[in-house]
Amino acid sequence: MPIAYEATLAWAQAQDAADPLRGFRDEFLIPPHEDRDSHYFCGNSLGLQPRAVRPALSAELDYWGELGVEGHFKGRLPWMDYHEFVRDDLAAVVGAQPHEVVAMNTLGVNLHLMMVSFYRPTPERHAILIEAGSFPTDRYAVESQVRFHGFDPATALIELESDQPNGTISMEAIERALAEHGSRIALVMLPGIQYRTGQAFDLAAITRLANRHGCMVGFDLAHAVGNLPLQLHDSGADFAIWCSYKYLNSGPGAVGGAFVHERHARTTLPRFAGWWGHDKTTRFQMGPQFVPTYGADGWQLSNPPILALTPLRVSLEIFRRAGMQRLRDKSLQLTGYLEWLVHSQLNDVLEVVTPGDPERRGAQLSIRVLGGREHGRSLFEYLMEHGIIGDWREPDVIRISPTPLYNRFADCVAFAEAVRGWASRS
Ligand SMILES: *Cc1c(COP(=O)(O)O)cnc(C)c1O
Repeated sequence: MPIAYEATLAWAQAQDAADPLRGFRDEFLIPPHEDRDSHYFCGNSLGLQPRAVRPALSAELDYWGELGVEGHFKGRLPWMDYHEFVRDDLAAVVGAQPHEVVAMNTLGVNLHLMMVSFYRPTPERHAILIEAGSFPTDRYAVESQVRFHGFDPATALIELESDQPNGTISMEAIERALAEHGSRIALVMLPGIQYRTGQAFDLAAITRLANRHGCMVGFDLAHAVGNLPLQLHDSGADFAIWCSYKYLNSGPGAVGGAFVHERHARTTLPRFAGWWGHDKTTRFQMGPQFVPTYGADGWQLSNPPILALTPLRVSLEIFRRAGMQRLRDKSLQLTGYLEWLVHSQLNDVLEVVTPGDPERRGAQLSIRVLGGREHGRSLFEYLMEHGIIGDWREPDVIRISPTPLYNRFADCVAFAEAVRGWASRS
């Protein structure tokens, strides 16, 4: 049910007081600004630290100190199986079967590992479809894989240009690209949410379309995981990859994740192998023959970094208690409120770039500052000085992401008041 928004702090505070998820904010360390909490809107870039991370890390350090190598088998959560302790919660967050997900490496590494298996170019079919203006790592990874297989990115990289105002891409544009190039596309590689515009894509619809043209499909969920409730298994995507330091709040450079659809669980496609991907029951026979573990676990290379997995485990436990659907319900209200404030109070200085349809976005609003780059930088710096933490994207966009675990309606009012303060000053 749509809420009748009001622009006052009193109204926002009443919403916060009635919010069933309000208690989760206290589970996070909110970076201070001067003598109070900052208004932290940067969960799209680095999520905040759950308070439970420090004691959990400390416990692992204690096990290491007290048990040494025995920590692999003893302690509350033996290190030998540690990646399995995050599996069920991770699967719930992305809407997958538990054996379809694995926490490992980082996004860029996982993207390469997945492409080794699922980008299998032939002379007739070797192109990759990505969005124009994709995140640099995605572009570099895709381009370097094309070269690695001896093809030329000039012809093998098909970049989907925006066909809508503000740089977003319609489903029809994807349809047209596949109709035109589908027979030579080996892999469709698109984001769950585009990092610049905040546009969310319909993963199931893209997958259906791409499959009809015989293409493999992979998604980069860096900005979607922990932000939108996903149904990766049902989407039918071949693979997905993500990082965990954005909405998943697992710390700078946190362990990323990968999804491999169940139908590939026993694939004989090539892969880059390591001992941790070997069948768990015979791993320690240390034989020369690689026998992959069933499912996504079979793509692991190394024994997992326990100290890096601990924050992810702690954070996913918060997601389990909050529930992705409840988070999304609040997120729709929070971001809807921020959008309404911009439209109703600030439309002389700001313009929302992100799609207005809530089904086509997550928490983030990409907001263009009218009047050019220098004007925009001046507002951005003013906001930072006033404890409103967003991030800047060239040439004139500020990304503001109210996240439902720790942001409040009152934060959105603080943002609007700061923008007004800046506008009346300049
Ligand atoms: C954040 C982000 C990355 C970062 O990749 P890392 O390997 O974790 O450094 C890559 N792609 C997209 C789309 C991102 O948003």
